[in-house]
Amino acid sequence: MYILSNGVKITEKMHIRLCRAVKDTSKKHAYFLELETGKLIRVPRAHRQKLAAIQQDPQRCIPLPKVTENERRERFRAFVEELGVIDVPELEDRLCKEIKQGASLDKLEQILEEDPSGWIHGWAQDEQFLLAERIEEWITDPPLSAKDDLDYWYFDDCPICQMMKKMEEGEKNPTIAETREAFLQAKERGGFVGGDMFHNPNEVDKEVDELLEMAKNKRFEPGIYNFCDRWCEKCKDTQKCFLYAQERQRRGRNTTEGKDNGYWLEEVKHSFEITRRMIERNLKEEGIDPQKVLKEKPKGHWDDDAGRRYDRAPCLMKAREYMKGVAIFLHNFHQNRFQYYPQLGMEIGFDDIKEEIEAISWYHTFLPSKIWRTLYEKECFNREKDRHLKELMGRDLEKFYLLVIKCINKSIEAWRDLAKKRKEFSGTAENFLTLLGDIQNLTNQSQRRHFRYLVGRADTELSK
Ligand code: SF4
Repeated sequence: MYILSNGVKITEKMHIRLCRAVKDTSKKHAYFLELETGKLIRVPRAHRQKLAAIQQDPQRCIPLPKVTENERRERFRAFVEELGVIDVPELEDRLCKEIKQGASLDKLEQILEEDPSGWIHGWAQDEQFLLAERIEEWITDPPLSAKDDLDYWYFDDCPICQMMKKMEEGEKNPTIAETREAFLQAKERGGFVGGDMFHNPNEVDKEVDELLEMAKNKRFEPGIYNFCDRWCEKCKDTQKCFLYAQERQRRGRNTTEGKDNGYWLEEVKHSFEITRRMIERNLKEEGIDPQKVLKEKPKGHWDDDAGRRYDRAPCLMKAREYMKGVAIFLHNFHQNRFQYYPQLGMEIGFDDIKEEIEAISWYHTFLPSKIWRTLYEKECFNREKDRHLKELMGRDLEKFYLLVIKCINKSIEAWRDLAKKRKEFSGTAENFLTLLGDIQNLTNQSQRRHFRYLVGRADTELSK
């Protein structure tokens, strides 16, 4: 975590203890960090002599900062405003009223705790961020002057991690050749790395030219692939889909060049590479040097911490819970199918439920990512000031929402059919159906109403 100026390490465990101490506003204890040992000292304020003795040695025992009740309450207020951005308007209204009436933080936390939405976990996490921020301000300033413990963040011997560690330690940024070397070394050691470090730039340019040419074809419906479930085998819109055509072209090229089509990570990396090259070429056409843009310090943006906020959205938390549960189920299911393989060389067939297992499998990872995207698009829509853009975004919002509903409905259908076909799975199916029902309620009750309201409001505003 941190290393003090005298080399003493502050571990993650100690950091947790420090966070607890800065939050203690009971006035019963005073807290100090002993510089020489990095230990936390807690002294009851009633022990005046002991306290006075410690305070007489301020170079050795550094008093901890405090996060006051008011500061926590203020953070709570900001947290509630963010709730309004995500969902649960009834809860937000109630908390806002209580805050206006001056309710104590204890009371506000109690309301949150009793609410079935699960937002209490979101608050616990946010409060932890506040405490950690205060520790960081204090510990990195003199006299402690701590620095990040790079061994904690870059603990392994991966060449790429070690290169990043050197950057953090203040050495110059690596050159392209050094970066390439680090990536090559990592790959030689079996790491999943690659992307533009290994592709011939001329080949990439050629591919970009072909794609731009292909995109001129009028049969493609722009952006159709943004609102689909990416199950191309079952899709009726393949002819209209540029992404589908692009993937087919790429697969054909791989086959011609004798490359493996099944290595999906390479495919993802290659897509990024193509996108990057397109951006670079656009920038050059506009007379902008891409290298200069890369060197510029990125400006802060409202969505820098969007992911952190959405992590606390109840529908997303539930969807992730569902995803993890299903992943375990699928793992056990396939493991059981192969239980006799070592002795008999045969696996247990599942043709009768293949469709259901495939659907469950397909949508369980898709659901959280599409909920995340929906939350993000909703917030973008809320923030957009440009009338024309807002109109376009309003149209897309419902499509993002419907995609979430599709993932839920397809999963529900699959679990129900699975339970009907195989009685031994009925208990498991029931549990997952309950979870999906919860996700459905959270999205139906708040998201859809909210979406309709937002889209309706935008329409009204735009028709003025
Ligand atoms: S072809 Fe595939 S990517 Fe394109 S719209 Fe259909 S499912 Fe989506």
